[in-house]
Amino acid sequence: MSYVVLARKYRPPNFDALVGQEHVVQALANALTQQRLHHAYLFTGTRGVGKTTISRILAKSLNCTGADGLGGITAHPCGVCAACRDIDTGRFIDYVELDAASNRGVDEISQLLDQAVYKPVVGRFKVYMIDEVHMLSTTAFNAMLKTLEEPPEYLKFVLATTDPQKVPPTVLSRCLQFNLRPMAPQTVQEHLVTVLAQEQIAAEPGALRLLARAARGSMRDALSLTDQAIAFGAGALTEPGVREMLGAVDRGHAVRIIDALAASDGAGLVATVDALRGLGLSAGGALEELAALLQQMAVLQAVPEALDASDPDAAQAERLAGVLAPDETQLAYSIALHGRAELGLAPDEYSGLVMVLLRMLAFRPQGVGTVPRAPVATPAAAPRATMAAAGPAGGTPAVVARVDPPMPRASAAAATQPAVVAPAPALRVPANEPPPWMDAPFEDEVLEPATSAREPDAVYTAAPVAAAAGVFTPTALGARWAELVRAMVEAGSISAFARELAMQAQCVALDEQATPIACSLRVERETLRANAPVEKLQAALTVLLDRTVRLDVQAGIAVDSPARRDTVERERRQAQAEQIIHDDPLVQALMAQYKTARIVPGSIKPH
Ligand SMILES: [Zn+2]
Repeated sequence: MSYVVLARKYRPPNFDALVGQEHVVQALANALTQQRLHHAYLFTGTRGVGKTTISRILAKSLNCTGADGLGGITAHPCGVCAACRDIDTGRFIDYVELDAASNRGVDEISQLLDQAVYKPVVGRFKVYMIDEVHMLSTTAFNAMLKTLEEPPEYLKFVLATTDPQKVPPTVLSRCLQFNLRPMAPQTVQEHLVTVLAQEQIAAEPGALRLLARAARGSMRDALSLTDQAIAFGAGALTEPGVREMLGAVDRGHAVRIIDALAASDGAGLVATVDALRGLGLSAGGALEELAALLQQMAVLQAVPEALDASDPDAAQAERLAGVLAPDETQLAYSIALHGRAELGLAPDEYSGLVMVLLRMLAFRPQGVGTVPRAPVATPAAAPRATMAAAGPAGGTPAVVARVDPPMPRASAAAATQPAVVAPAPALRVPANEPPPWMDAPFEDEVLEPATSAREPDAVYTAAPVAAAAGVFTPTALGARWAELVRAMVEAGSISAFARELAMQAQCVALDEQATPIACSLRVERETLRANAPVEKLQAALTVLLDRTVRLDVQAGIAVDSPARRDTVERERRQAQAEQIIHDDPLVQALMAQYKTARIVPGSIKPH
């Protein structure tokens, strides 16, 4: 009996079991119950929030015949009839999932639409699910539009995208749109508790909190990470173990940084970075932990009763909430976020981290840190009140300078934003992923929202561990596999699902000396492990290598897949293009001359 990954084993079979998307479930269930069926649905939301799952449940709802074979359209698919079972196992002939990210062209869509003229073979409805639909080429969109305008009554479209802004309005206007939310860490954590109880695996709450946070709103990532944590910890989920696996930085380091900052202790900051370097902990991880702690402090400063007594870290955050003023906490948070995005540009990540921490220090009023502060309950009044008290006590002219300089452009809305212009980062186009503290209530107080010019979901397409650490680790096998896939794609020997399988898979073993050649792939999506694509890919490999290939495809996380490599390359070129623009003397001169000039995020495109 092979091990079934948690994300698959606990994929919700029906709407009742679906966690965290109640608003969508309610609307769909009502429509199904009242038989008010739309012909095209568009689900938007980041990776792993349930788009595919909801699509499958919808397909089951439309095609379920009930346990007795007499049922009709239902909001509660039975799960036992042939239609329900076949959709669950990816064998239902009238339910087709196509990933537009790897099937962008008009050919693939035309193939699909050609089939649309035929009535369903076994079901009541044909359901076409097109994932990442924004990736379709313009001609492919146009080809689809005609069917979308006048679909046969037996055909339902489910479109899903992480980036609805790239879907043409002509398509949007023909779809009923549902926005799926990223899951709150609390929701994810509660679900993990339930799943692990069923699996009879003991887990420390701190371990689950770390996993829930690293999942960044994606339940699927949370479950995949949990799988890895179980393997990593040999069956036990301990906080130190999970921390080590995620490369997460112990909160103790973040606490020391804030204490040093409060004491205006530059030497202390540098020593903390040295300690992180000595332990081999990531600078990015340190800034993430620091931002998470600052966010918690800011909440406690504004809403002291928000203290979560069950959180072992809360007492520490409460103490620290009293050592930094609310405006300084806000500024440090902003600097941490922007600094995280800048780390990649630094000569090495630790020197980058030192600079970020020293920047926090540079924006502190001299000497104020030596004045003890009481925790404050009213953030709007607190900074100035504190300053007034600190002024005479510290006798520092720097306090005066803080009071009334012009507000930075993007922070005008933030009442507690300190009156200091944050440096360069405001001009940068952040190229990074949505931050893990996305759920933070202070999100809109970040100087520049993390509007992103990159391809959507680029980071999430990595294995979660790599995503959590922000690092893509190429392997030699991955390079060889990407080379083979490129040759097959160029030769036109693989298409549709076989090509998608090739693109999404990580090669975990390849013996080109053996007879037959043995090749093992790992791929996350179950539908790609069906016989047809695997056989087609095997045949194409056999032709390419001119020797018999035995292909074996396992279920699992694919970190170093050709698709992921493409994304990394695209991101690299994007970052390079942005750097060239930012470094351009003419651009810099314009920005210097026109104070309000800024580079529109997303407007820079590499050739
Ligand atoms: Zn059924």
